[in-house]
Amino acid sequence: MTRDEMREIVRRDYTDRVVRDIADELGLSRSAVIGMAHRMGLRARRPNRGGNGRRGEGTSARAPMSVIRPQALFDLHAGACHWPLAGDLFCGAPATREHYCAMHWRRAHVRRG
Ligand SMILES: [Zn+2]
Repeated sequence: MTRDEMREIVRRDYTDRVVRDIADELGLSRSAVIGMAHRMGLRARRPNRGGNGRRGEGTSARAPMSVIRPQALFDLHAGACHWPLAGDLFCGAPATREHYCAMHWRRAHVRRG
């Protein structure tokens, strides 16, 4: 097997197979396979801990954060969030609902305890 063939196998299999299996197939050490993959810019597959369930900390479940750009009222255009901040400034993030950004719309509509 040539070096190029080895590289091809590593490239093809590195993300799907455990390194040890690839190393066995190529007759190389695991560290040689890992080194080769690194030089090709490949990433190992993640070890799959405890079954196939996802862990519950995905970022998509989080409430959206808005990019606040404090603006005075006369600078505030119609599509910007009208949530008042300190002083005479308003939020200024892109408004998504009514005249508020997602974050401030929630704040306006969630009852306080
Ligand atoms: Zn806002």
